[in-house]
Amino acid sequence: MIVILKPQAEQVKIDSLLEQIRAKGVSIHYSQGETETIVGLVGDTTHVDEDWLRANEIVDDIRRVSEPYKLANRRFHPEDTHITVAGRTIGEGRFSVIAGPCSVENEEQIICVANAVKASGAAFLRGGAFKPRTSPYSFQGLEGEGLRLLKIARKETGLPIVTEIMSENQLDDFADVDIIQVGARNMQNFRLLKELGHSKKPILLKRGLSSTMEELFMSAEYILAGGNDNVILCERGIRTFEKMIRNNLDISAVPIIKAKSHLPVIIDPSHAAGIAWMVEPLAKTAVAAGADGLMIEVHNDPAHALCDGAQSLKPKQFDHLMKDIKRRVAFEGKILEGQ
Ligand code: PEP
Ligand code: MN
Repeated sequence: MIVILKPQAEQVKIDSLLEQIRAKGVSIHYSQGETETIVGLVGDTTHVDEDWLRANEIVDDIRRVSEPYKLANRRFHPEDTHITVAGRTIGEGRFSVIAGPCSVENEEQIICVANAVKASGAAFLRGGAFKPRTSPYSFQGLEGEGLRLLKIARKETGLPIVTEIMSENQLDDFADVDIIQVGARNMQNFRLLKELGHSKKPILLKRGLSSTMEELFMSAEYILAGGNDNVILCERGIRTFEKMIRNNLDISAVPIIKAKSHLPVIIDPSHAAGIAWMVEPLAKTAVAAGADGLMIEVHNDPAHALCDGAQSLKPKQFDHLMKDIKRRVAFEGKILEGQ
């Protein structure tokens, strides 16, 4: 981090600032030029708050030379992270498909979809029990009953389950969930992220609706900083001016994550597309871009789904897509997990 001081800053104020910075455990490279005084902060600047520096009257500008996320950063962790859960691996040359309905609706529905996605090659079953809905009048999920039904579907199919948590108060109820999803709306629920950091559960962290990549990495950093290394990132589309798609799938998130971080990345084309016919082309791009997997919404009767029916694939459409995905995964030299 480089701090540029205002011209004519009083020496006594400079000395005081340097002392306060040193007290944070970083060393200082001080350079006084004819027109500018520059202070280089050398070492771990994680605990040096930019806002705190900007609030100092003698500070003119600040430039970061390294990223504020350390644990999520590939620079300090060059090897790819892979996450093994219930005998299945995300990352490490494997391509994992998570599929299932947006919401668990009843036993018949979740068992039917679980059997279908398993037969088509999914490695994990998804299904929301607690749903973050824009309207308080929309279906909010079956809650505890939804978790119970998911576990029945897991027992029936052997597929590990992925489901969304909404609050840190639910952690006990999620003790038996294989992968805990943090939804886009909760990506910056910092109290929740901190508590998830104290658990050892794999966390699927979805990118917020209008979040930058750096904000996504910083949210991952919260979980990693708590001691939980099992973080999977998920790109699910971001909000832009475009109205012809629910959310623009930011496929560039994949190479950015691969370059900047060591964490695995899953693409969710369903919440990006918002409409079923667009899921297939977006899913294909995920394989080519180098993602570690996909998360796809599948419903046995999309027309009557209680949530996200328009973007849900019918089991037959999912099966058709998976046949194509299998070929593409093999072409990339990867193994389709669970097959
Ligand atoms: C979901 O996965 O059903 C969901 C609500 O996703 P997102 O948080 O990406 O909107
Ligand atoms: Mn959904």
